[in-house]
Amino acid sequence: MGQLQIADAPINLIDLIENKKATGGDALPEAGNGRKVYIETYGCQMNVADSELMGGILLSHGYTIARTVEEADVILVNTCAVREKAEDRVFGRVATLNGYKNRKPGVVIGVTGCMAEHLRDKITDQAPYVDMVIGPDAYRRLPQMLADKDQQEAKDKKDEHDPIIDVRLDRRETYEGITPVREEGVTGWITIQRGCDKFCTFCIVPYTRGRERGVAPREILRQARALAEAGYKEVTLLGQTVNSYKYEGVDFADLLTAVAQIDGIERIRFTSPYPVDFTPKLIETMAREDKICKYIHFPVQSASNEVLKVMRRGYTIEEFRQLVVDMRAAMPDLAISTDIIVGFPGESDEDFQATMDLMREIRFDFAYMFKYSEREGTFAHKRIPDDVPEAVKGARLKEMIAMQEGICAEIMKPHIGKLVHVLIQGNSRKSDDDWVGRTDTFKTAIFPKVEGTEPGQIVPVRVLKATSHTLVGEIEWNCSKP
Ligand code: SF4
Repeated sequence: MGQLQIADAPINLIDLIENKKATGGDALPEAGNGRKVYIETYGCQMNVADSELMGGILLSHGYTIARTVEEADVILVNTCAVREKAEDRVFGRVATLNGYKNRKPGVVIGVTGCMAEHLRDKITDQAPYVDMVIGPDAYRRLPQMLADKDQQEAKDKKDEHDPIIDVRLDRRETYEGITPVREEGVTGWITIQRGCDKFCTFCIVPYTRGRERGVAPREILRQARALAEAGYKEVTLLGQTVNSYKYEGVDFADLLTAVAQIDGIERIRFTSPYPVDFTPKLIETMAREDKICKYIHFPVQSASNEVLKVMRRGYTIEEFRQLVVDMRAAMPDLAISTDIIVGFPGESDEDFQATMDLMREIRFDFAYMFKYSEREGTFAHKRIPDDVPEAVKGARLKEMIAMQEGICAEIMKPHIGKLVHVLIQGNSRKSDDDWVGRTDTFKTAIFPKVEGTEPGQIVPVRVLKATSHTLVGEIEWNCSKP
């Protein structure tokens, strides 16, 4: 797990185009009968992609997408189990949603995703008004479950309220053949791998998403071609440990090479790679293919070998460091970001300083830094005492963030005066007169709109100013096109 960042706010699947065609299976083709589904997503990009998948399955069974929760007949809350805070928020949210159910009898509320897998008993105990609890490998059965729920209602068993629970993990399910209903945007996300086999001691994902399995290359290429035809310029390949992808004889480097052949796709990203699965072949492929962005999210977690061992990360810091050297030798302009956990059990002052030293040495373009907190169900929760005091964790995190902010500012400053090529994503948050977009190396750039430009275009931008996280500039047409 790495750059699969956890969103602070739920993401609604309301910008979808209603009644888009999708394919999701043969059974119950008209079961939805036009009923409206509202899908609210918490958590990482994998979850957003799963919501798009559920949207695709339900549309192909006669449902339509609700733009607001008020108009919904079915409300699905797609959840994340990585942090306890996110789970608490979901409990609060489903309690609020129960209010809609009371006002509109017949509304079905489902909790889907990692939390459904992780806390199914707690959900049915604490939120008895939840009608369905559905794990990440059961989405194909959603139309059947909704039909079963209808039958329950028809038999007037409301007083018995029997939630439908399906949290079976299925090591073969990759949702091949289903066309996700995508959010509007300039980047198309393609899930190429589900589950995780790494079992880092702090992480719940292998328990909530099951064993690692690759999606068939034919399915990935089908989705990538469909995205190109729909006008998407950028695709991001998604997996918990994306570069450990394997499908029969095809590895991740082969897959990247194949996606790079698709006309219309101009940028390819992937997230998140796992350090030990970064092969020389993959580095060579990235360096060779212009379409593959020169940016890697490379989660180190700690620079102490002792801590890495207890985390069961499967690499030493020397191996990690060598990979960075190899990647930079092949791609001198490569941007690298990382994830760090501060205050993992047993982390001494020396261990923490080793991580700070590594950050000074590697100079990550940015870092997602977190205080360790136990997750119920993980190996660490069961067997490794959380022995670093909260105050120490807090102080270390503060010190680390301050140092990384300084590094970010130093890395951004030399961009001033340079030309960068930016994929326009949309309006800047602060002004409708400005576009915001990303450079090849994943830097955020803001610049005034000019006539003839629109989201999805890649434009040359001269950088005039830089903060620690944003480049500010203006479009400069009289230069070579990207
Ligand atoms: S177990 Fe490790 S590699 Fe797998 S998702 Fe969790 S942190 Fe990532």
